[in-house]
Amino acid sequence: MSEQLSPMMRQYKQIKAQYPDTILFYRLGDFYEMFFEDALLASRELDLTLTGRDCGLPERAPMCGVPFHSYETYVSRLVEKGYKVAICEQMEDPATAKGLVKRDIIRVITPGTVVEDSMLEEGRNNYLCAVCKEKDDTAAGLCFVDVSTGELRLTRVEGDSLDIRIIGELARFQPAEALLNVWSASDPTLTRFLSNRIRCRVEIDEDDCFDLASCEATVTRHFGKPLADLKVANGSCELGALGAVLAYLYKTKRTGLSGINRVEIYTDSQYMRLDLSTRASLELTETMRSRSQKGSLIRILDRTRTAMGRRLIRTWLEQPLLNPAAILARQNGVEELLGDPVNRGELSNAMSGVYDLERLMSRVLGGSVTPRELRALSDTVAHLPDIRGRIALCRSAILDETYKQIDELTDVRQLIDEAIVDEPPMTLKEGGVIRPGYSEEIDSLRDDLQDGHGFILRIENAEKERTGIKNLRVKYSKVFGYCIEVTNSAKHLVPEDRYIRKQTLVNGERYITEELKETEARVLGAKDRLERLERDLFDKIRTAVSEQLVRIQRTAAAVARLDVLCSFAQSADENRYVRPALNVDGRITIINGRHPVVEQLIDTPFVPNDTHLDPTGDRCAIITGPNMAGKSTYMRQVALITLMAQAGSFVPAESADIGIVDAIFTRVGASDDLSGGQSTFMVEMSEVANILESATKDSLLIFDEIGRGTSTFDGMAIARSVLEYVCNRKKLGAKTLFATHYHELTELEGQLEGVRNYNTTVKKRGEEITFLRRVVPGPADGSYGVDVARLAGIPADVVARARQILHALEAGETLAVPRAAARKGERQEEPSALTDHAAALLLDELKIMDVNTLTPIEAMAKLHEMSQRAKEL
Ligand code: ATP
Repeated sequence: MSEQLSPMMRQYKQIKAQYPDTILFYRLGDFYEMFFEDALLASRELDLTLTGRDCGLPERAPMCGVPFHSYETYVSRLVEKGYKVAICEQMEDPATAKGLVKRDIIRVITPGTVVEDSMLEEGRNNYLCAVCKEKDDTAAGLCFVDVSTGELRLTRVEGDSLDIRIIGELARFQPAEALLNVWSASDPTLTRFLSNRIRCRVEIDEDDCFDLASCEATVTRHFGKPLADLKVANGSCELGALGAVLAYLYKTKRTGLSGINRVEIYTDSQYMRLDLSTRASLELTETMRSRSQKGSLIRILDRTRTAMGRRLIRTWLEQPLLNPAAILARQNGVEELLGDPVNRGELSNAMSGVYDLERLMSRVLGGSVTPRELRALSDTVAHLPDIRGRIALCRSAILDETYKQIDELTDVRQLIDEAIVDEPPMTLKEGGVIRPGYSEEIDSLRDDLQDGHGFILRIENAEKERTGIKNLRVKYSKVFGYCIEVTNSAKHLVPEDRYIRKQTLVNGERYITEELKETEARVLGAKDRLERLERDLFDKIRTAVSEQLVRIQRTAAAVARLDVLCSFAQSADENRYVRPALNVDGRITIINGRHPVVEQLIDTPFVPNDTHLDPTGDRCAIITGPNMAGKSTYMRQVALITLMAQAGSFVPAESADIGIVDAIFTRVGASDDLSGGQSTFMVEMSEVANILESATKDSLLIFDEIGRGTSTFDGMAIARSVLEYVCNRKKLGAKTLFATHYHELTELEGQLEGVRNYNTTVKKRGEEITFLRRVVPGPADGSYGVDVARLAGIPADVVARARQILHALEAGETLAVPRAAARKGERQEEPSALTDHAAALLLDELKIMDVNTLTPIEAMAKLHEMSQRAKEL
């Protein structure tokens, strides 16, 4: 069949065969075309019109295309949907090429390797990761790289619960794309998590990207250093992950990879563990309901001025620290900046002029930087002396360090300022990028060009005079170059001996002359040379800037850090936050704590509350109280204050003393779990299981209504046994906040060491209830569910009936269907043969039940179920 294909289609097929798993964008003139199955897919995904093209086969090839100048939008839509796109470019000028134009893949664009601004979120890193699991499941190497900034982080996780730990790291970085070695790919928990929970594109290694020998070669070649210098063990799974990431980047033909020049090795014990549900339910970066930033913690705390700062504050909030010294260092910086609002304001202003140096450098290295972006680099550098000067006298170590790391980069600025005009065009092609006076040759070519244009104008005037043709014009056409255009009415005045006819138009004729052609050669020659020269010089400047990569990267990181510290100080100032004390004995004492987000969103004043959790004393707080009284808000506020403290931020409280926690786990009730509508009992239980398996005595646990997705007895039994387990110091002994509507659980205070009851108070006057939002010691005096139902607008007769049922239940009475419920004329059911049969069945079941083999929970559930059936008889 391939012999029948036209030569171009044969070329297409050959290229496609090398990149079978991509959608191939094949450059054809001013379009990128897609053919065959790619065309069918892309036309569907991008809503493009499907056409066809003769390809040598009896049937036309399905085809669709996008204009080359707007291809980015289309590619980004495909990449967002998880496809890989290969860009196939013409490698020679079609106008001069002999035969079929040479084409080749210049880049493969995938979710984890994009660098185009249009495909990236400014305030968020975009990670590609590799997971290299050992064959025997004892350890795994994980590597995360953000190509757009050059950040590369590598870790090894090992030991018990390997899957949970791998997933913990993936939840921390939430990569856009993951490469899995065979042992990782065969783990359904991992692949399900990646594809379904964090919607990450999964690439299963089929090309031996993880082969350790080739990994060693790739890594040492890329960094130009032996593995020992990078502190990566030979033959280890970390090497596999690192090598695979690099190999994949090379495979996708990413350029500018020299920005990845450092391997930052970390261990998961450096950071607070937060699983994906906890991140979601604490609404750190987006709300659960609408997945928008509005209403999230980051929206309150982010007062950064630079894109780099915006990314870093997200990282700090998503990766709270465990090391008290590191947290204290950040706090000291925040405190110092908080104490000097004037300087902080000036610093923020100066930082507003700082461009995204990290992503800009990736384009400098990749060669795609535009003249305007280089200009932006210089404008950024212009702010550095001011920024640096403003922290010169700071005493805190972190600001002093930042001061030392900011390089004023005067030489870089000088280089750009001298060479590039103040307001360069968008693209190099437009010309006029190099500043007059920078290159003699460019200046003289520009003069020639100017002269040439003047000369052409002079020719026009001279010809007009000589021929007497008043409306004679010298025009430029792409095909014939400069021509003299004469309308039909003046044709008879044309000097036939000097004018050579070139083209007939509807209204006139076009001619050339010897003189015109000579001038044209000069003008066009100068134009070409000028273009080439400007390109060469721009490239030289770009290379010179890229040689300063390390200094620029260091400065960028320092500015980002300063930006986040200023932002923490600013939000502390605006929102009346205090510096939390830290302790390592695990005590959490918060006086008049507030929920950082809710306090901003409500119209009424926020009621602050205290918290006392002590691992050696009262470590489990059972919180009861009506719906809507503020239990969830209170528990989340404790979690958020702890998290903010460990991120280095100040906190919304009158005072706080935070015992560093190694993890926060939250389990919110089924009705609250809106993430992906998976609010089933099974999900709830597996999350509880995960918490019990992963938490330690140093963790902070938040249980908001557990055991509600099942029958009352099952639910209560589970809730109680979970509480007993987490509170028991011989088993877990973690600090726990436990909100429940099972009032029976409040009996545990006094029975179980470490348990304390709290309730959210309400005031009831007649039918009216008022929420006081105070969390006070002691169990709640009632659940008020029916009252809240009334507040929510449940019809009055339904509420009245609910009250009736409630009283009957509380009095242990049997419930009867109200007589009025039977419709007029309907006969009331007499006991029937069916009822007798059901009763007999129930009796039989009781007789054969082997009570000794039932667990207490099963027994309770069975009893509950049978009693329900008995009531229905
Ligand atoms: P449920 O049991 O139905 O889940 P809840 O007791 O968990 O209810 P929350 O969801 O925490 O109640 O709070 C309900 C609303 O009360 C919040 O949305 C907020 O508007 C308000 N609220 C909560 N705590 C406070 C507070 N301390 N000060 C002022 N308003 C508060």
